[in-house]
Amino acid sequence: MNSSISFPSHAASDTLPCIAVLATGGTIAGSAADPANTSGYQAGVVGVERLLSAVPALSSVARVQAEQLASVDSKDISLALWSALAQRVNTLLATDGIDGVVITHGTDTLEETAYLLHLTVKSTKPVVLTAAMRPSTSLSADGPLNLLNAVTVAASAVAHGQGVMVAFNNRIHSARDIVKTSTYTVNAFESPEVGVLGWVQDGRVEFQRKVLRPHTVDTEFVIGANWPHVEIVASYAGASRIAVDALVTAGVRGIVVAGTGNGSIHTTVQQGLADAVAHGVAVVRGSRVGSGHVMRNGAASDDALGFISAGTLNPYKARVLLMLALAAGAAGPVVLQRVFDTY
Ligand code: ASP
Repeated sequence: MNSSISFPSHAASDTLPCIAVLATGGTIAGSAADPANTSGYQAGVVGVERLLSAVPALSSVARVQAEQLASVDSKDISLALWSALAQRVNTLLATDGIDGVVITHGTDTLEETAYLLHLTVKSTKPVVLTAAMRPSTSLSADGPLNLLNAVTVAASAVAHGQGVMVAFNNRIHSARDIVKTSTYTVNAFESPEVGVLGWVQDGRVEFQRKVLRPHTVDTEFVIGANWPHVEIVASYAGASRIAVDALVTAGVRGIVVAGTGNGSIHTTVQQGLADAVAHGVAVVRGSRVGSGHVMRNGAASDDALGFISAGTLNPYKARVLLMLALAAGAAGPVVLQRVFDTY
């Protein structure tokens, strides 16, 4: 699905920035039979035109050009949709007259899509994702204000060069750092350890820090249709190596481990992973904890077995980086560790 709509239908000033809104679905485009029910609803069924028409104030912030790129619950985002989205964002940003892009998305995999774009968008123009925890038909739906705030950030001169961002619940997060931390509250996202990039409130956009790691135009990654097969396994009490062995047999190129604590791994799983490395599989050690670093552990496993530490990336973002790095031709633990230490 990919139709283009100009919004608003009433005239917006020609001097306002032009922002492309790409809709992909999610709860922000959700609909429920009961306005008081915020969990029993269908995600991704309301079209972008209706989402925009719920926010008349957009016309004083930007000229908006909207496209319905997809209509999915973000749990079902595919690699093909990631390729199409990243390519469309790059095409739009390379177009004269487009000043920024806003993407409406589901909250469930928003942090993965945002980080993917942060590494593959080739422009310094603002790219801002937004979403909602309550469907569009809900009492106190959070989508309309989140959408207005996202367009406000994308239209702001101070947002240039900040990498890909997420505007949610009045806060601006970096795609590198944002993590979903609540299953149901409207304050559903945090940037653990580092905090937000800034705020957007009542039309005012304020940044308090910059992301220092390279992103967008400063990365070695380009989006393509080639996605090396990388999967995630977890370590936990009583874990077996069945999943690891099955993945190696299936021919994966990489495995990210959601380890315990500082990326520690059950001995049985670790033996399976050591055998995976011997089969040429890249193994990245992350943590299931939710915040903090996974430090390199030297002889304990990284140096001895050829594992890579994920640093501050959670396993889901580590998978994104590992896929892009393998697609770019990076190979071997030394080169891959350099990638993880850089991005
Ligand atoms: N399942 C929904 C999605 O990720 C949840 C949401 O958007 O809040 O599309």
